[in-house]
Amino acid sequence: MTKRNPSAGFATRAIHHGYDPLEYHGALNPPVFMSSTFAYENSMQGSDRFAGDAAGYIYHRVGNPTVSVLEGRLAELEGGEAGLATASGMGAITAAFWTLLSEGDEVIADKTLYGCTFSLLHHHVTRFGVKTTFVDLTNPDELAAAINDKTRIVYSETPANPNMRVIDIAAIVRITSAADAVFIVDNTYCTPYLQRPLEMGADLVVHSATKYLGGHGDLLAGALVGDQEMIDQIRFVGIKEMNGAMISSMDAFLILRGLKTLHLRMDRHSQTALKLARDLEKHAAVARVYYPGLESSPFHGLAKRQMAQFGGMIALELKGGLDAGRVFMDGLEMVICAVSLGDAETLVQHPASMTHSTYSEDERKAHGITNGLIRISTGLEDYADIRNDILAALDCL
Ligand SMILES: *Cc1c(COP(=O)(O)O)cnc(C)c1O
Repeated sequence: MTKRNPSAGFATRAIHHGYDPLEYHGALNPPVFMSSTFAYENSMQGSDRFAGDAAGYIYHRVGNPTVSVLEGRLAELEGGEAGLATASGMGAITAAFWTLLSEGDEVIADKTLYGCTFSLLHHHVTRFGVKTTFVDLTNPDELAAAINDKTRIVYSETPANPNMRVIDIAAIVRITSAADAVFIVDNTYCTPYLQRPLEMGADLVVHSATKYLGGHGDLLAGALVGDQEMIDQIRFVGIKEMNGAMISSMDAFLILRGLKTLHLRMDRHSQTALKLARDLEKHAAVARVYYPGLESSPFHGLAKRQMAQFGGMIALELKGGLDAGRVFMDGLEMVICAVSLGDAETLVQHPASMTHSTYSEDERKAHGITNGLIRISTGLEDYADIRNDILAALDCL
């Protein structure tokens, strides 16, 4: 399996790709290389490695053998040429922006983004002479109208965090490729098991590996996958020389461990979320459920084409708005009130005051993040226990 075997299934590649135990004393799992620096046979070899004329490790901020196994495996699973693992999702996202953007460039992003990504694009890259425009990418015509010869990056999540709007990746690619813009998709919500944007023509995938890829709520990490040239550029500029957000080898090891069960977990998350979305939709206290697996979702048809399953994330709005939301979250017993997502534990949070508090009230209104929205990350517990806890808390309203 160290050689690429494209006919092997997803789970097989997630477990084996790019690692041969016999190259490491038979160790079933990749060793965790806890070494900040790497010795050279002689000074010439060191210079050659720095010049890029010889393969080999130099310093952990540029590469580490444990991290390389993870990067190769993520690239394989996303269907990309090369991968780059980072210290956090924001480390991956900032490395991409800082590498690709220069003063005078423009970014067009979907109007609903993870809170810190929104803040980066709205408040911070703008300080360096970059212009950001937010449009509704569920309507590709808005992109076609906004894109111009200064547009360097088009950026979206799909489904978008937190309100589960689904963006048609192939339709966006038709516009960005004609305009020569780099289309970046944050694939955190889906993982490559459910959706592979590069295969649909996107240029770069970013991840918060903190979420489903790690899958156990015990680490912070991120990743990028794209063509070799762009990943090299982001590694040697964005990570090595700009943000320094290299992943630790221990975290890389933990993500490799998480990947072995990714397919099982995503199957279960998706099954549970679909059942829960259907049960929530029937509850008298619920005004609206946002889940692309529901026939009532305006994105259902697109999601069926674009995603293998609908994932584990649900958003809902209660008839009593935010006040009802607080009573609901405080009434839960097994389900945990916490941000983050993709863990074994079912988590519930309030985007307007938590993950998306980087938006002002007016910005949230304009970007479709209502005050009454509650986000649920369905966990891996028994479905009956998840349902009973959530429905009991709703019954109190
Ligand atoms: C969590 C998250 C991020 C940021 O990732 P970190 O690992 O927390 O830095 C980016 N995008 C999405 C969709 C997220 O959920």
